[in-house]
Amino acid sequence: MEISFAGAANEVGRSAIIIENREKILLDYGLKLSHEEEPEYPLKVDPDHVFLSHAHLDHIGAVPFLNKHGYTGNFYATDLTIDLMRLMLEDSAKIAKMEGYNVRYSKKDVRETLNKSIGVPYGKTLNFKNFSATFVDAGHVPGSAGIIIETGGKKIFYTGDLRVEDTRLVAGMKKFPKADVLVIESTYAERNHPDRDEEEKRFLENVRETVEGGGVALIPAFALGRSQEMLLILENLKCPVYVDGMAREATNIIKNYKSYLKDGSRLEKLCRNIGFVKDNREREKIIEEPCAIVTTAGFVQAGPSVFYIRGLCLRKNSSILIPGFQVEGSPGRQLLEHKTYSLDGEVVKVGLKVDSFDFSAHGDRSELLKTINKVNPEKVFVIHGDYCEKFAAELKEMGFGATAPEIGSKFAV
Ligand SMILES: [Zn+2]
Repeated sequence: MEISFAGAANEVGRSAIIIENREKILLDYGLKLSHEEEPEYPLKVDPDHVFLSHAHLDHIGAVPFLNKHGYTGNFYATDLTIDLMRLMLEDSAKIAKMEGYNVRYSKKDVRETLNKSIGVPYGKTLNFKNFSATFVDAGHVPGSAGIIIETGGKKIFYTGDLRVEDTRLVAGMKKFPKADVLVIESTYAERNHPDRDEEEKRFLENVRETVEGGGVALIPAFALGRSQEMLLILENLKCPVYVDGMAREATNIIKNYKSYLKDGSRLEKLCRNIGFVKDNREREKIIEEPCAIVTTAGFVQAGPSVFYIRGLCLRKNSSILIPGFQVEGSPGRQLLEHKTYSLDGEVVKVGLKVDSFDFSAHGDRSELLKTINKVNPEKVFVIHGDYCEKFAAELKEMGFGATAPEIGSKFAV
């Protein structure tokens, strides 16, 4: 049996892992998104079976491309992931068109992909001729799964993106399957997260201060996972809370999948007290009063967050509170480092307060090490990170057979 990597090798993005034992099994097929450049696709793959870990674009963004190039089989994922894929893929194609990028698949490919997608619950083993596949809850975002493939007498566990500790939205990964081979993400291999309770406290103090000062707290967040987490954190705040952009649509989908959430109906109940913002007229109106707004895009590069910054940028009593890591070159990073923002081709100094917080949905170093120790594999492939080689070297020192594969590389396992 062989395992190879068509993406996410020494990089974050375009996850695509291939397990080959007479048939080709593809795990994820994502895009690498960057700023001001066209998204990168994984290497071309001609799979016999496809399994998808979760609906973030770096894991599923290139899937319709497989359909276009003649893949006729099914796509397996949890039912929530499939529902979210529709939203994510349609939005991705829309943005690509807006930016003038070459979209390598059509609306028809997206439609056909979704029609060929089959929902699989956690814990159910699917048996095929040469292998079996089982999804386990990976604790990353609602519907996210780690995938166990058993073939040729070996067990391979691919984590997808994982988180071990609970968040407000989802319970962390609780089941760690013993496996011969582990393919693990390593986004936060270099550091541990700050104490979550402290981080929540600091965040809420900032929101409260802004609102009590008569301002608007703008919270730009990713649509899937982060936005719902922020809404839950804001639950007990005594001020109007709004959700806007793709975050609104994702929340509307996720709240109905109660079995995937840590606290089943809490998000749905909460949504009854939240304002769902639809157009610019509503946007103009809500920023006249103190409030908190959770909106896409997470890197502050597009969507309603741009509209809000335009309206709020000179208001000293308002704030922009960024709940996640901002990649280099992103407008969010520019805001944090220079308190400037590019509007209509002009760099403007923003008057509002800017701060950032760590509400990551990825496991940190201690969570990754816990996972590796529990799975206790013979071989570990470290992927999906900026420090894969360094982390693999550290794991080797700890006695694991660890490798940071290069893109296109193939290993016998
Ligand atoms: Zn993810």
